[in-house]
Amino acid sequence: MESLEAELDRARDLDVADLADAIESIGFECTRCGSCCKAEDDDPHTATVFPDEVREIQSEHDEEYDWRDVARPMPYGLDADEETSDRTGQTFEWALQTDGCGDCTFYEEDDDGVGACSIHGDRPLICATYPFSVALAGTSQPMGEAVDESGMVRAHECEGLGRDISRSDAEALAATLKERAITELEEAIDVRDEYRPVDADDRVVVHDSEGAKTDDGTLIE
Ligand code: SF4
Repeated sequence: MESLEAELDRARDLDVADLADAIESIGFECTRCGSCCKAEDDDPHTATVFPDEVREIQSEHDEEYDWRDVARPMPYGLDADEETSDRTGQTFEWALQTDGCGDCTFYEEDDDGVGACSIHGDRPLICATYPFSVALAGTSQPMGEAVDESGMVRAHECEGLGRDISRSDAEALAATLKERAITELEEAIDVRDEYRPVDADDRVVVHDSEGAKTDDGTLIE
């Protein structure tokens, strides 16, 4: 496998017009079904959010959100106590916080079941580019296997695929998709470089691109 640095170079060299061509040929229009924002069966929603994105959401919303209102430790690899459900262990990502139903905490639905994102303009890159990803190692491939692909672009399960998209929308989406690929690889490199062993026997430790943190986003000295 290529090194993360080599993949980052490839991400920086991605041609936005080529990505837009691929997105146009696959086709996409959001139907606001909410599938990418909600729990799936019994599995709570998980979408990666980076530290800068958490702070951006906090600052754009007048600091009304505590870190834990926005993000939770990505649960994969954590242990859960059978009686208390308290978690312990180490994880390497933050996920968007979920509500009592396991849906993204920022997801809202009107009486007709039409979904909306309450932080639409500040939503994380993964949300702004769903259902697409790029075929580079070290970048995220949401919601399992790709169901379609064109050039460097992969498309993941979504009922909005195959619908017409305007050139300007495809170009905007392509530019954000490239930004996401670069950000994901930069974050992955920093997570690797910042990693140091920290005791996680009786707590959750999140190793992100800035170091080891407790579940409220505080750096562990
Ligand atoms: S932040 Fe918005 S777009 Fe992203 S999962 Fe939550 S509700 Fe959906």
